[in-house]
Amino acid sequence: SAYLSDRIQKIKPSATLEVTAKANELKSQGIQIISMGSGEPDFDTPKNIQRAAIQAIKNGQTRYTMVDGTPILKKAIIDKFKRENSLTYTNTEVIVSSGGKQVFYNLCQAVLNKGDEVIITAPFWVSYPDMTLLADATPIIITTGLEQNFKITPKQLESNITNNTKLFVINSPSNPTGVVYSKAELQALANILKKYPKILIITDDIYEHIHWNNNENFVNIVMVDKTLKDRTIILNGVSKAYAMTGWRIGYGAGPKNIIQAMKKIQGQSTSNPCSISQAAALEALNGDQSIINIMVRAFKKRHDFIVDALNTINGIECPKSQGAFYAFPRVEGLISRLGLKNDIELSTYCLEILNIALVPGSDFGMPGYIRFSFATNMDNIRKAIDKLSKV
Ligand code: PLP
Repeated sequence: SAYLSDRIQKIKPSATLEVTAKANELKSQGIQIISMGSGEPDFDTPKNIQRAAIQAIKNGQTRYTMVDGTPILKKAIIDKFKRENSLTYTNTEVIVSSGGKQVFYNLCQAVLNKGDEVIITAPFWVSYPDMTLLADATPIIITTGLEQNFKITPKQLESNITNNTKLFVINSPSNPTGVVYSKAELQALANILKKYPKILIITDDIYEHIHWNNNENFVNIVMVDKTLKDRTIILNGVSKAYAMTGWRIGYGAGPKNIIQAMKKIQGQSTSNPCSISQAAALEALNGDQSIINIMVRAFKKRHDFIVDALNTINGIECPKSQGAFYAFPRVEGLISRLGLKNDIELSTYCLEILNIALVPGSDFGMPGYIRFSFATNMDNIRKAIDKLSKV
């Protein structure tokens, strides 16, 4: 560790990227791997979006853009918030970044100081704690289990608030569990947060469109309680909804001073997100939206199949979810049945013996569980279930 900063030694590589890398290594040795590790749609980017990108290259949209995104894309984002979320933002309250991931990174760098605490619900998206640490702040991890549907309760939230609490992170539909907070649950959390005006909130809505809760349309905490709007940052992007993970376009919306601070960080690090990807994202947001429904129907079908099938396997308990493309079962029974130590050993077993790539729950702060990404075709899902039911 000579030469390396203290900062870098506090964080670990992204677990989901690591599993994918390990699986790719086995694939390169000619071993067939069923990839249920990574969190990306298996669909191709829709044709109209592909064409918009090709046209952008031909039109010479190949230069630097404004650091925080082209005015036309920012307008499409503002229109999207109005149309889909009934939220009004102005040009200086929106930023386009290289993925939703960079939105979160910029926010951490822009608002967190040493000693600040960030409340994160486990199981969590792997990057929240590490990006918090990279900003010298402290992740406060609140563990939830299957019994409480993986959702933080108002009581848990309030009892973890201190004078140092700076940011509360909420992600719905959630990675890795797919659970969705109801309007009433969000209102209950909002009621707590209203008592603590110093706390900022980030709502990670990246799975907004991948959602099949029949009773309720998508809502986030600001839509439920507009009084929180002046201290909430919305994270969203085109990666998941439009099968555009490789294009790296995400966006954030929130109070002007914070968005402008995030722009400053971006201007001194990566500058604008890829100009061509921005043109593609413009078409994604303004073009035909029917593609989303086609993908969501496929995800829902796979969800119903995999949840039922996992529950027939001795030692696996899998709750239903309402969105995203993950199943997150408790696998303690299976671990002990196989004589393994924990979920990390189970995922190694699944990769090396069964040739199924899965991410251990420990990486999401939730030992005893494992994540199946069902962003893969039914054939692969059936094969994986078949192998698992024989162990
Ligand atoms: N937030 C959550 C919960 C995610 O699962 C992901 C991707 O895995 C992201 C944000 C960021 O996605 P991207 O950087 O591709 O926009």
